[in-house]
Amino acid sequence: LLLPLAGCDKRADALIEIGGPTMGTYYSVKIARPPASMTAETLKPDVEVVLDQVIAEISTYDETSELSRLNRNPSTDWIPISSNLYDVIAEGQRIALLTDGAFDITIGPLVNLWGFGPEQRPDALPSSEEIQVARARVGWQKLDVRATPPAVRKARADLYIDLSALGEGVGADRVSALLEARGVADYMIAVAGAIRAKGRNAKGQPWAIAIEEPMPDLRSVHRVIPVSDRALSTSGDYRNFFERDGKRYSHEIDPMTGAPVERNLGSVTVIGESGMVVDGLATALMVMGEARGQAFAEARGLAAFFIVREGETLRGFGTPAFQGYLDR
Ligand code: ADP
Ligand code: MG
Ligand code: MG
Repeated sequence: LLLPLAGCDKRADALIEIGGPTMGTYYSVKIARPPASMTAETLKPDVEVVLDQVIAEISTYDETSELSRLNRNPSTDWIPISSNLYDVIAEGQRIALLTDGAFDITIGPLVNLWGFGPEQRPDALPSSEEIQVARARVGWQKLDVRATPPAVRKARADLYIDLSALGEGVGADRVSALLEARGVADYMIAVAGAIRAKGRNAKGQPWAIAIEEPMPDLRSVHRVIPVSDRALSTSGDYRNFFERDGKRYSHEIDPMTGAPVERNLGSVTVIGESGMVVDGLATALMVMGEARGQAFAEARGLAAFFIVREGETLRGFGTPAFQGYLDR
């Protein structure tokens, strides 16, 4: 039995809980048995500085962010970027290669065209001409990435990079790094659907993470799974979408068609080591759909859980690597 010891520098009974708005959504942090000097009041501003820093690097919603400035930069030569921005772009390119382009960080023009970006959603659906024009600007091979010194090169001046599919995971990773540096051993960080859990909760058990039913306006739990020392991310079509003429358009765009994915796949949850990686993979599996997504996840040994709508019912299933979380 390995329960964390309540030494003299740990407050065995204490639980710190903080949270607030970030990235157009919410974050929360729970810490069990925090270091003696740590309080919610002192921790909160430090966590928010870290999250604001992520926004200042990779947000397309912040016009002054490094990414927004890069997107406005018309140069087709190498453009130097910060190593933090490099890390996220390079991971996006790695997942694009891995997923045969189902995941594509140059998807921005299509995301914006369909009204899921920083601009206001137009009243009418985009025309096929508009989609073709936007598609010509999209394609991860149009972006070169260099590590030393960190830089990118656009094949087209009007390339537009969108890192939103990775952002929440990056936020969770960075807050995790902050807590690690402060000697926190037991925490659960959630930036919307991206989670990092470490150690044990206040009761000395693994953190319990709820996977929601993929239903709009309804916050019911499909499954609760124990997670510690892992990152988890859920992507779904049930929060960020709009409806027109009885049809649901969700914010995951298939680069092959230039349109929102249309399937019965309600959500995908991925568990792994890094918040950024699982956030990206969850989005990628949503874009691939249940059949291709499941085959891809199983071939690579990914721990993934899919929830599919079948008429009025929901069917959830995990890959073999996910079974360990379901059995416990
Ligand atoms: P959430 O924002 O709810 O966490 P995701 O992590 O799945 O959801 O990210 C969805 C966002 O990713 C979209 O709003 C869009 O900005 C971007 N996106 C949409 N389609 C793709 C795609 N095929 N590849 C990469 N990013 C995408
Ligand atoms: Mg994602
Ligand atoms: Mg996400």
